Amino acid sequence: MRHNQTGYCGVRDNIDGGLFLTTYSKVTGLAVDPIEKKPLYHFLPGSNVLSFGTAGCNLGCKFCQNWEMSTASVDHIRSQDATPEQIVALALKKGCKSIAYTYNEPTIFAEFVIDTSKLAREHGIKNVMVTNGYITPEARSDVYEFIDAANVDIKSFSETFYHKLTAAHIEPVKTTIEWLVNKTDVWVELTTLIIPGQNDTEDEIEHLVGWIIDKCGNRVPLHFSVFHPAHKMNDIPRTPDESLLLARKIAIESGIRHVYLGNVHDTTGHTTFCPVCKHKLISRGWMNTGRIDLDNGMCSCGEVLDGVWEID
Ligand code: SF4
Repeated sequence: MRHNQTGYCGVRDNIDGGLFLTTYSKVTGLAVDPIEKKPLYHFLPGSNVLSFGTAGCNLGCKFCQNWEMSTASVDHIRSQDATPEQIVALALKKGCKSIAYTYNEPTIFAEFVIDTSKLAREHGIKNVMVTNGYITPEARSDVYEFIDAANVDIKSFSETFYHKLTAAHIEPVKTTIEWLVNKTDVWVELTTLIIPGQNDTEDEIEHLVGWIIDKCGNRVPLHFSVFHPAHKMNDIPRTPDESLLLARKIAIESGIRHVYLGNVHDTTGHTTFCPVCKHKLISRGWMNTGRIDLDNGMCSCGEVLDGVWEID
């Protein structure tokens, strides 16, 4: 990036040879959400999370469901000023157990994430990244130092898809997921948006699921969610229910213990079952939690479910 230029993300300027984050403390979409909305189904279920984003993104997804934020610069989006201290104070006041860096890509406002997450941890509040996973090995240790949970998109299992529809590459995303699951204490769940005709073949789902099991094991919850026509892909129809159900069936038959469906009314696809005795452990509505039948993560049959069930 040259002097006085702004990077691809739209929010980082080169000023006199130093990179300057223009969205530090410029918050958009500040709201209290159920944690299920991130989606995180095995992380403090039933709790509230204070969520916010900023502007810009390091990817250029043609199907972005938040494109008004992800394609905006700080001058062209309605934002409010909020320092890390004010955000943490608000989370405490609202009784939120965690803060989520979400809506657009939090990696691009890394300094803001680091300062806020550090302060939140000092006050006993957990931190959540909702991310595309596109981050360099050099940056990730700093960004994730105070992060407790992450939902990472794996948007497809095809480099062609990533190149054509996100202006990025798949390998860095895979590398981040493997690092988070195998080398950190961050609780991880994965999400794939199923887009008709783009990433919904049986073959691709089988390869995706096979890679997850091979590199991350079968205990990382996987969410398949519905695409709605948006941004530059308004000509593609909504994901048919059959595609979601097929993806879930393939993932379950391949051995993934917890496979969920998002952005759709599907009681079974929202429910956490014991992988051993099949008892219904957590029932959920559209994006909130109903009954929880777990004793600190343990089913009545004695099986311990992976996740973060209570604040330690
Ligand atoms: S990574 Fe997420 S926020 Fe960024 S363009 Fe893609 S879908 Fe939108």
